[in-house]
Amino acid sequence: MSTRLQLLRYPFSSESRQNTQRLARDIGDLITIVEDADDNYVVREAENRVFAALEQKEIATVNSNRDYDFLIYQTARLIVEKIGDNRLKQYQAEAESKAVNKNLSKERDEFVIDLIHRAFQWDIDFIGQKGYKASLPHYLQSFDALMPFENFLEVAPRFHSDEWKLVNRYVESGLVPIRKSEFYRLIAEKFKVLILQSSIQVPPLPKNLTHAVQQIESELRTKLKKTEPIKFTMKTVNAFPPCISAMHESALQGKNLSHEARFTLASFLLKIGMTQDEVFGIFKAAPDFVRGLAEYQVRHIASKSGGEGYTPPSCRKMQGNSLCPVYLGTAIDPLCEYIVHPLSFYQTRAWEISKNVQSHSWYAQKMTKRQSF
Ligand code: SF4
Repeated sequence: MSTRLQLLRYPFSSESRQNTQRLARDIGDLITIVEDADDNYVVREAENRVFAALEQKEIATVNSNRDYDFLIYQTARLIVEKIGDNRLKQYQAEAESKAVNKNLSKERDEFVIDLIHRAFQWDIDFIGQKGYKASLPHYLQSFDALMPFENFLEVAPRFHSDEWKLVNRYVESGLVPIRKSEFYRLIAEKFKVLILQSSIQVPPLPKNLTHAVQQIESELRTKLKKTEPIKFTMKTVNAFPPCISAMHESALQGKNLSHEARFTLASFLLKIGMTQDEVFGIFKAAPDFVRGLAEYQVRHIASKSGGEGYTPPSCRKMQGNSLCPVYLGTAIDPLCEYIVHPLSFYQTRAWEISKNVQSHSWYAQKMTKRQSF
């Protein structure tokens, strides 16, 4: 039996969904209720919830002891569906799943097991406490739970890093040993997928909801304007950081790139505004180029998270993968000391080029050193 707070924290749980349906059987009911709710609080809180997601802030659980607290999440979803913008939906799914991930770590194991058994039909076994773990085979001792591999595969392929690939995991009798933090992340990601895959047919809305929709649409437009990629022209190749320049040149010269380098280059170029066709065109010269495969890979990188695409790795990750020529001592650029991500390098250098800023002495005056080589 879940507490009221738990029902509010996990809107995907079967109990929470039943509770919501008891209050509002369908969208029509929901709209009628929130139109008349005391001092417009459901719409106000739903609007706050969407704003928090849009600003990538933490989503707070509203627990005011009023029955309609249970309708806030649904109303927030309704607002986002009405706006119908994929990026906004992505922001919402991301923020909602982050909140779930954070809250799960405060719950008892028995609660989490029951929650996901009833919500997703996942059957997880916790391995047990420290003393018992010591009696288990060595390979199991650093894990907390066993998960059927088919449940693991429902979500894990969405994560990019190697530890999520089934080939890199122990699998014994169809079960994958996992750590608690991984387990919470899988649950949160599953919730994210549910949001991204769901859709609501939204009928005409009353005044208070329409007002909330307009407020959020206006904020969304401002945010998207700020984050629009810099338009790509051949001139902007000069703004590439040394790492991307090296990969770009190697690709054009027909050299084979490692998987990590290919991923980095493709995700970087897509993020700065190149089209998918332009990106896979760059890989054409590679001896191992297979058109269908390259198209598939570029499409996959571009379509991650409802069209936002993968973000290229940070400088630290690049250094760990031996892909940073400045770290390896084969290239030098003073800007690298002041950034921690190749995209930040690009944005700053593209700005310098557009303003014809020749001297880099302003870095030391206006920027904080973030790395040293
Ligand atoms: S410091 Fe960062 S941006 Fe500069 S070359 Fe290395 S990985 Fe690229």
